[in-house]
Amino acid sequence: MVPGVTTPLAIPVRQLVEFACRSGDLAAGVPGPTASAGLRGHQQLQRSPPPGYRPEVRLSATVALDEFQVELKGRVDLMCAEGEPPAIEEIKTCLVPPDRLPDAQVALHWAQLKVYGFCHLHASGGARIRLQLTWYDLATGRSYADAEELAYDALRDFTLAALQRYLAWQRLMQHHRRQLRAAAGALRFPFGAFRAGQRAMAADIYRAARDGGQCLIEAPTGTGKTISALFAAAKALGEGHVDRILYLTAKNSGRLAAADMVAALVRGGLPAGSLLIRAKAQACPCHTGACERDAEGRCPRGLGFYDRLPPARERLLALGTMDAAAIDAVALEYQLCPFELALQMAPWADIVICDFNYVFDPLVELSCLRDDGARALLLVDEVHNLVDRSRQMYSAQLCRSDLDACARACRHDHPALSKALRRVASAMLRWHGSAATAPAIGRAAPAAVSRAVDRLLQGLATAADDPYPEPLTEVLRALYRFAAIAALFGAHHTCMARAGARGDSRGDSRGDSRGAYRDVEVKLLCLDASEYLAHSYQSFQAVAAFSATLSPADYYRRALGLHHDTPARILPSPFAPQQLGVWLYPAIDTRQHQREHHLGAIARAIGAVYAARPGNYLAFFPSYRFMQQVAEAFTAMFETPRPLLQERATDEAQRRAFLDQFECGRPTLGFAIMGGVFGEGVDYAGDRLIGAIVVGVGLPAADTEQELIRAEYAAAGIDGFDFAYRFPGLARVMQAAGRVIRSERDRGVVVLMDRRFGHHQYRRHLPRYWHPRRCSDPSTLQGELQAFWQEAPPAPNNS
Ligand code: SF4
Repeated sequence: MVPGVTTPLAIPVRQLVEFACRSGDLAAGVPGPTASAGLRGHQQLQRSPPPGYRPEVRLSATVALDEFQVELKGRVDLMCAEGEPPAIEEIKTCLVPPDRLPDAQVALHWAQLKVYGFCHLHASGGARIRLQLTWYDLATGRSYADAEELAYDALRDFTLAALQRYLAWQRLMQHHRRQLRAAAGALRFPFGAFRAGQRAMAADIYRAARDGGQCLIEAPTGTGKTISALFAAAKALGEGHVDRILYLTAKNSGRLAAADMVAALVRGGLPAGSLLIRAKAQACPCHTGACERDAEGRCPRGLGFYDRLPPARERLLALGTMDAAAIDAVALEYQLCPFELALQMAPWADIVICDFNYVFDPLVELSCLRDDGARALLLVDEVHNLVDRSRQMYSAQLCRSDLDACARACRHDHPALSKALRRVASAMLRWHGSAATAPAIGRAAPAAVSRAVDRLLQGLATAADDPYPEPLTEVLRALYRFAAIAALFGAHHTCMARAGARGDSRGDSRGDSRGAYRDVEVKLLCLDASEYLAHSYQSFQAVAAFSATLSPADYYRRALGLHHDTPARILPSPFAPQQLGVWLYPAIDTRQHQREHHLGAIARAIGAVYAARPGNYLAFFPSYRFMQQVAEAFTAMFETPRPLLQERATDEAQRRAFLDQFECGRPTLGFAIMGGVFGEGVDYAGDRLIGAIVVGVGLPAADTEQELIRAEYAAAGIDGFDFAYRFPGLARVMQAAGRVIRSERDRGVVVLMDRRFGHHQYRRHLPRYWHPRRCSDPSTLQGELQAFWQEAPPAPNNS
């Protein structure tokens, strides 16, 4: 630090107290109110303030402290500046009376209020202030107030002590950021020269970061999009255009690939603090038996968490890379919950790699990633997945049989809860009505179901001291999601209930007029989440969205909530055209009512592809049943190879075992599902995969939900079939085909089997760098493929 130079630093009050005034345990048990319920509670109290009080008053105070010129900023819920003494009031919503809230939480509420009190007195020159904390219990509608009158000196001492703790950390952070910026300026691309397309992609992302814009980039497989995006982002970070990079992916494989590329940048001299956020189940040591609960069933990693957090934070900052191994090691050393430790580091990491959820899901989002004033660049990889994922994030569902099963499980130990679960189930049944099979559709949230859910959750909160029965955990999660989505229910939502969705008999005959058990599923469906996404983007400095499949760009711009004029770039393939042979095989009809007549023809054509050059192939199908039917036809026709079938529900061990077959040295013909775990995000480099056979155009099943999506787009004047079926289907096709060529040395074939691939509406959306040949019978196909394999391999294309 240069002597005499002050550094301006704006600190939101909330951030200060969250960082410096927390102590005690991690909050356990039932979560508090959802954000929207909390907001409604606030507004309710603010609507009728005491005389002389104004709502939502901005406060700020400037303090010179050591080398910093600190500006504290915040907004207090209610304020009476003219009182004698002046008074401020902060409202907190809860689901239990405040005497049942954890001490640590109450202390944090008071800390925030004290700093607000300091801000007002410091700016106004006053000597004393009345501070009031009002807890509004949403469960009962009662409010509880606690007030204290404090002098300026006491508030100043409290605030300065918190600031000293915060500034000590800021000194470390600022030192780190100075080093980072200097290193980022000198950073060189870690893999020698840019490949074709990489420079253009990096330039687009850098421009978006610098100018605060959006960009959409289709980067074919092999472009090296991850490193191009991260390199451009690192440069923007180095030049001070952004403060943080958020790298979002849909799949774990994408996150690991991003973490590898960050590691390459770090090896190249970028001292970035990068954080990989895993799912809770993956990070939790209790899942693997590595930690033991105490006699009351509490996790020791959560007890006293905030007391042990500060040194662990410093340790991780010094380490730089906060990958899974580093988080686990530091969490073990300080006996902290690794998942929560990672979340605590999120505001301080230069690069955060995480799932889409943490930014876009209203129930999972990390507010610290968007509300702390840092200018973040959002890199959204595999963004084609976000269309569907975002719909799911804003949807919710309840299943009557799940609720009834829980009600039975807890009827002895938790009779009130059991009753509340039954009440929700009955409300669902009533909402569905007596329609036996046809789904019931409504454009409003089911008020009676929502009321029953709210009452159950409020009852649960008041019984929070008792441990919940184990089977309730999943259902509880579904209930919370349902309550939150019901509160958000808007113009793009619809409610759908249908009977018998999960089987008809659960050993309980309640609620059915004919005496037989009728299962009912109630869904709050978000048909188009683009407005929610667009709203989320506003919290970030820039958004760069990319994927190997983003054609047509207009569809993705609209469905992803990007500006209508967001620049879209389609990069050329980095590979030579001779590396990939593409055939259209239109002799096949895979439409639902025709596919059974074509099983033999499909099997014969797959046999021809394999016979042309035995090796590793994957055949992709639109459904599990269809895949099995073709497998049976194939096995009846050919003795070898025996197709290796994707299991219906694939866990990690099964996924690994399936992939291992492609590395065992024996030719393998795999059958998998389009859009499934083997159709995206898997790298089958070299001879691990020499061909993909895509059976069908990948359209989503035409069920009621998909038809509602189609109607939603059609009502907005958009071609509903394109948006609900054709484009999502083509994305699956392209992803499946994209597994084949992964490097300059690979050669391979893609065979697209379906008459619709010959139609203009499909064909015009296939990649421009494909030069497909048409072929209509198996022996010609085999001959052409053999000729392809006999061609000399092309020279590597490094342009
Ligand atoms: S370690 Fe596991 S059980 Fe313990 S607090 Fe963390 S997530 Fe919960």
